[in-house]
Amino acid sequence: MAAVVGDTCEGSDDVDVGQALPQTVAPVLASQSPCQACGACCAHSAEWPRFTLEDDADVARLPAALVDEKHWRMLSVADRCAALAGEVGVATSCTVYENRPVVCRDCQPGDDACTMAREGRGMAPLPPAIEPAMT
Ligand code: SF4
Ligand code: SF4
Repeated sequence: MAAVVGDTCEGSDDVDVGQALPQTVAPVLASQSPCQACGACCAHSAEWPRFTLEDDADVARLPAALVDEKHWRMLSVADRCAALAGEVGVATSCTVYENRPVVCRDCQPGDDACTMAREGRGMAPLPPAIEPAMT
């Protein structure tokens, strides 16, 4: 669910990416979720995360600069969700955590999607369901 970089996706040509991209991330503590030292699933594809069960009100709670409304998903920059802060595999956080998409809430450390995303970034798989997703 919750982590890394490429081209501006279609339908976002008018977005000021320099303003949209988060610039900072809190240091990772050993007691925190493994997601905070990962972020692989947030930088897995230019087409992810998509909105699924969200309605207009849900999407309106997200910063407009981070939404690709045309494709009904989060804006992606270089295959990385624009809401992702930090460096994948080092220290990451979701800057819209409280309002993150349903698919992000569903992705859990150690599940199949997590394993695929981490393998794509050369990271070892995690054991299933050891901690809640990125906080
Ligand atoms: S540990 Fe898994 S769920 Fe958490 S950010 Fe990494 S890939 Fe996503
Ligand atoms: S909205 Fe947050 S949790 Fe979902 S992909 Fe983007 S950074 Fe990750």
